[in-house]
Amino acid sequence: MIDLRSDTVTKPSAEMRQAMAQAEVGDDVFGDDPTVNRLQEQVAELLGKPASLFVPSGTMANLVSILSHTHPGDEVIMEKESHTFNYEVGGACAIAGVQLHPLIGVRGILEVEQIAAAIRSQNVHHPQTKLICLENTHNRGSGAIFPLDKIKAIRELALQHNIKTHLDGARLFNACVATGIPAREYAMYFDSLMFCFSKGLAAPVGSIVAGDEAFIEKAHRFRKMLGGGMRQVGILAAAAQYALDHNIARLQEDHQNARILGTELALIPGFEVDSQSIETNIVVFDVTKTGFSPAKVVEKLAAKGVLMVPFGATLVRAVTSLAVTKNDVLKAIAIIRDLFD
Ligand SMILES: *Cc1c(COP(=O)(O)O)cnc(C)c1O
Repeated sequence: MIDLRSDTVTKPSAEMRQAMAQAEVGDDVFGDDPTVNRLQEQVAELLGKPASLFVPSGTMANLVSILSHTHPGDEVIMEKESHTFNYEVGGACAIAGVQLHPLIGVRGILEVEQIAAAIRSQNVHHPQTKLICLENTHNRGSGAIFPLDKIKAIRELALQHNIKTHLDGARLFNACVATGIPAREYAMYFDSLMFCFSKGLAAPVGSIVAGDEAFIEKAHRFRKMLGGGMRQVGILAAAAQYALDHNIARLQEDHQNARILGTELALIPGFEVDSQSIETNIVVFDVTKTGFSPAKVVEKLAAKGVLMVPFGATLVRAVTSLAVTKNDVLKAIAIIRDLFD
């Protein structure tokens, strides 16, 4: 099987498993796990934030962040195709009690003017805008990188209105590797940010959220409330540490493979790919002209051992990762050509 469904399908390598097996552990609810503590200190340093907190998932990282920055009835601005608005089970609404204010972006990228127009005025009728969430890279935006100048402008606006900013950086290091901009530079413009170890960094479990001490103290309480207090979790923190030490620079290979995949797909009749849109490891393409639905295209590919996911009414998504080599990508293209050309 050539698994292009997601960068979450990566499996821990023998070396990563070795690091997990050898991890020094303790009860992290007592703050006693040295491997977790080391990881949290190192990530805080890496992101230029005072503190960080290891959490079980990206969904929990975003939820504890929203909980920590808001009160029920507050409003949170985010992009309409964002992960939090679409794929986090409405937790921000159900659990944090906030109202989400989605804005329509271009490949997930919002303009500062749009956000300015969406900020609520001080009026007794309105909810209060308390938080702006951005996503970098943007999953439904086919891995789009949020331009730094736009982030800076949005941060300026947020400061003027006393609004907090949070970054869903599930794939932050894909943006860093593609642009050369260090993670701590992106982090400067956010009160809090998170990234996932379980996507392209290829650890089996875990995400981390960073911010100032007061924010992390709140996030820590909310993590416990949500059932995210973990005990000898150093075995997972060791996998995360291994991922940080070994799997960041290699994301470049995933980006190269995505570019090869996109370029070759574009040459197959019926497959429409905007090759300009391939900035990182996600390739989204339109299959309308094949005469088949995305679900049918995906089914035909799966029967030949190539896995992708339908991504809306006309689109299919393929994601490159440590789980697929350049050779796998070339094989997948040969199979697709065989089926559709
Ligand atoms: C995967 C993902 C998340 C959530 O991570 P989980 O660990 O699956 O809960 C959040 N944001 C984005 C952009 C993601 O791609």
